[in-house]
Amino acid sequence: MRRRVDALPPLREVLSGGLTAKKSLGQHFLFDLNLTDKIARAARVAGAPPDAPLAGATVVEVGPGPGGLTRSLLKAGAEVVAVEKDARAAAVLAPLQEAADGRLTVHIADALTADWRAIAPEGAVICANLPYNVATPLLVGWLTEGPWPPWWASATVMVQREVAGRMVGAPGRDDYGRLGVLTGVRCHASAVFDVPPTAFVPPPKVWSTVVRLDPKPEAADTPIGALSRVTAAAFGQRRKMLRSSLRSLVSDPEALLGDAGIAPTERAERLELRDFVRLAEIYADRLASAVEREA
Ligand code: SAM
Repeated sequence: MRRRVDALPPLREVLSGGLTAKKSLGQHFLFDLNLTDKIARAARVAGAPPDAPLAGATVVEVGPGPGGLTRSLLKAGAEVVAVEKDARAAAVLAPLQEAADGRLTVHIADALTADWRAIAPEGAVICANLPYNVATPLLVGWLTEGPWPPWWASATVMVQREVAGRMVGAPGRDDYGRLGVLTGVRCHASAVFDVPPTAFVPPPKVWSTVVRLDPKPEAADTPIGALSRVTAAAFGQRRKMLRSSLRSLVSDPEALLGDAGIAPTERAERLELRDFVRLAEIYADRLASAVEREA
């Protein structure tokens, strides 16, 4: 199979064959197969041999486009389930599908509305060069929707470097925000390597970063809906004191903060992950008591 994938025509010919990049779909393609191999290796599964780092894994790829990363995932031993919004990609990916001997399934669909549990087996690995215009909502969905641990065993994604900074952001840093709290509470997150604009066709304006997420099973107890709302309110007005920004969430922010042992004059950007979790737990308890009282 590896030899059949290697024998496919160079990726650049795929572009000249009609898949011109569409800005509206965030299309910035990778043609350097050494780089796509490196991304596939960053998604490696534990116990897999070095020459087949994805052996035995099912990989969900969002946006295969012309299929450069897809080739690398297949060569690394994965079975690939790809979700691509651009219908033109189906014909472009057909020769790769043939070379893959049944190990590549392509769904022409919008990843933002995909039913992942229907498409992907439990324990699948996500690996993608994400379309920048939908990266954040996709990540927030994967981090907050459904039971925890999630259907995916790990996620290795290329995003804009600024988004990567927000994912691994820490208190006190300018890029610390809601995405960083949701990511940090639910996953071990690490920036793996940076990629310059020149690696893409057409080149984007900014650098990119490959980030790897490994879910924390112990995060199952965190009330994620409450955390999502608390962080939206707290970072909605990040420069304000929490007694003011949390007013969009509750009528008595000072009491909520007092119960969590947090000074009302604190600001969202200075709170640790555990402070947000405590606030979310207290807020969730309050909501549950209100529902009980109404029943
Ligand atoms: N994987 C290819 C590569 O690395 O060369 C293409 C990556 S390109 C940055 C993003 C891809 O995501 C494009 O192929 C684009 O058509 C696709 N895409 C954009 N929005 C999408 C969506 N909502 N759902 C699924 N695919 C989408």
